[in-house]
Amino acid sequence: MLATVYSDTQRAHNTAGVRLEGHPYIIDEVPARAEILLQAVRAAALGPVVAPDDFGLAPILAAHTAEYVDHLQTVYAATAAIDGQAGPVLGNTFAPRGALRKPASVLGLTGYYSYGVGSPVLAGTWAAAYAAAQCALTAAARVKAGERAAYALCRPPGHHAAADLYGGYCYLNNAAIAARWLAQTTRSRVAILDIDYHHGNGTQMIFYRDPGVLTCSLHAHPDDDYPWFWGAADERGDGPGLGFNHNWTLPQNTGDEPYLAALAAALGIIASNDPAWLVVSAGFDIAVGDPVGGFAITPAGLAAIGAQIASLGVPTIIAQEGGYLLDRLGANALAFLGAFA
Ligand SMILES: [Zn+2]
Repeated sequence: MLATVYSDTQRAHNTAGVRLEGHPYIIDEVPARAEILLQAVRAAALGPVVAPDDFGLAPILAAHTAEYVDHLQTVYAATAAIDGQAGPVLGNTFAPRGALRKPASVLGLTGYYSYGVGSPVLAGTWAAAYAAAQCALTAAARVKAGERAAYALCRPPGHHAAADLYGGYCYLNNAAIAARWLAQTTRSRVAILDIDYHHGNGTQMIFYRDPGVLTCSLHAHPDDDYPWFWGAADERGDGPGLGFNHNWTLPQNTGDEPYLAALAAALGIIASNDPAWLVVSAGFDIAVGDPVGGFAITPAGLAAIGAQIASLGVPTIIAQEGGYLLDRLGANALAFLGAFA
């Protein structure tokens, strides 16, 4: 049995059919992803599907700054008021190296708090991101209460969002919010394992100086793919967090065998850290054929990845991240989740 935590409110971030200045604005992170995943876990009778409890803003503010959260909540209405009409909010001038000040204008802040145009703020973005964070927290609470594992069907995803920076389809870092909540409420060590095709740069940034949350990420080499500016193997943490961040960069077209070898190395480091809780950032864009990813992990590989992680025996929260191969997304997710059911 594996409980799935899901909220319909996540559909409110409706990236399908968005138009920008009269043109279709197409991104792969669409509401149908969550609907496909939900249908798959229901059809497989993986376990109960439950709505999230509301933990409020406090656990979100333990991972993100108050100014950033306020910006996400208000930027859509604020820019609509300035523009005289509502529409997708995208930064068009991003804070570059050498930027000297945080702007007061909300138009400037859109480029201060984001680093790319893959994350438009739409009418329902805040509501959906808030609901996704509550899904992760509810999954964490179930595991804290004794369940072996729980699946947070989060959308939008979270691992590219840092304390005060969003990008890569992400706004609130669901996995980080759950991990910090567990660390703070149980006063015990937490490990985050990010298996999404892309480096979990937001997660890395949030915990870079924190020795209480070990962060491990397996991903495409940043010379080959997004997020470009983070993810190298020599990024090991800083200050008190030095030695508690680990990255494994894998070449394009990585298949099951080399992936599982890198995963074994990551799991060895996690085991030696002896965490009380494990949060998995689960991105199925590692699957062969994914239109956004560049690896070649088979369904059998996904099942083996799930089994290896489950064999650690650490109570585990699985937070949904990427995965864009819509016609196989449900089967790929089930291949992985089956190890925890
Ligand atoms: Zn990804």
